[in-house]
Amino acid sequence: MAKVTVPSDQQAEQYQISPDYVRISMAAAIELGLKPGRINRCNCNCINLLQNYPEGCYANCTYCGLARERPGTPEENTFIRVAWPLYPTDLVAEKIAEREANGGVGRVCISQVQDHRAYDDLVNMIRRVKKPAPQVPMSALVSATTLNEERLHVIKEAGVDIIGVGLDAVTEDLFEETRGRGTKGPHNWEYHWRIVRAAREIYGAMKVNCHIIVGLGETDKELVDMFYQLKEEQIAGYLFSFNPEPGTVMQDLSRSPIHRMRRIQLVKHLIENQGLPREAVSFDDGGNIARLDAPDTVVEVAVNTGLPFMTNGCPDRAGEVACNRPYGSYRPGEEYRDYPFVPNMEDLVIIRQEMRLEEVWANLDSPVVSHSLPVIN
Ligand code: SF4
Ligand code: SF4
Repeated sequence: MAKVTVPSDQQAEQYQISPDYVRISMAAAIELGLKPGRINRCNCNCINLLQNYPEGCYANCTYCGLARERPGTPEENTFIRVAWPLYPTDLVAEKIAEREANGGVGRVCISQVQDHRAYDDLVNMIRRVKKPAPQVPMSALVSATTLNEERLHVIKEAGVDIIGVGLDAVTEDLFEETRGRGTKGPHNWEYHWRIVRAAREIYGAMKVNCHIIVGLGETDKELVDMFYQLKEEQIAGYLFSFNPEPGTVMQDLSRSPIHRMRRIQLVKHLIENQGLPREAVSFDDGGNIARLDAPDTVVEVAVNTGLPFMTNGCPDRAGEVACNRPYGSYRPGEEYRDYPFVPNMEDLVIIRQEMRLEEVWANLDSPVVSHSLPVIN
């Protein structure tokens, strides 16, 4: 980011910064009537908010559009690929309350950035939303580096029931390379896990999630190991797909091939929902999924529901995914990486072609691999 010369104690007068101002995802701005338009095929029921400071974020993650050393000002840059307009926090809170009174909001989430003001401002902003809309479920996507156990308790008391942690990288080496020491950034793998596990204790089973990005340089095996670990600890894992941001250190890297993304999504779903045993997935020497030993009844049913390929995210009051982040993992006009809705029959035809499952799947129910079952939707 371009260097900001105004001292932080004078920035509130010159800039529209948090806690008085907040960025809001375009989908949420449309949903609250703050922007015109609509998002194709998306029931966007989560209001995703993001803290705003002139410097963007003091961390320096190599793939992130808010990173400290990315060139340009925050106004010129985007966060997760589409613009996040800025509004007064109290106006957004008022709109959330209006929407609550007229059908309800699925969930509100406030994302922290790395900044010395971020913790106090997060608590302030949670309270501002909760005051006019006390029943609305709230998540905080935290920057673990700004927190400790006591702060996690305060955030809960302020009204948050789910904590999200941007782990993003699934191994310590990759984390340090993309977010920690290797970037001269403040983040530390061990400390992130301390906060994840403290939050798990304080908030409860499946009330903490780790965001995980596919395509930062990890192997399939490392991802699968992480899925089993999270399941064991009753922590949710929410997948994202790396998408190179112009101006970032990783801007020239390619995305993961789509067949990889689809297979990872399927295996994750089978682990989480069907008890897929560890020995059912084998890997080649490069750590790529080489074989999936699973019955036709399990795999075909899972694929036919379309659920493995949907966006993972925090739930609404009924337990349905509320946070479906349209354009979180792909740009407008690109193929869906994750679907912010249940894929229909036509989508499933595309998904099957993309996944090329026959290359790795040993169908245990039949000597002949069959992909001709009717699609249920
Ligand atoms: S801490 Fe989050 S917002 Fe800041 S640079 Fe890293 S990924 Fe981006
Ligand atoms: S999944 Fe969505 S609502 Fe949940 S913590 Fe992540 S960004 Fe926030």
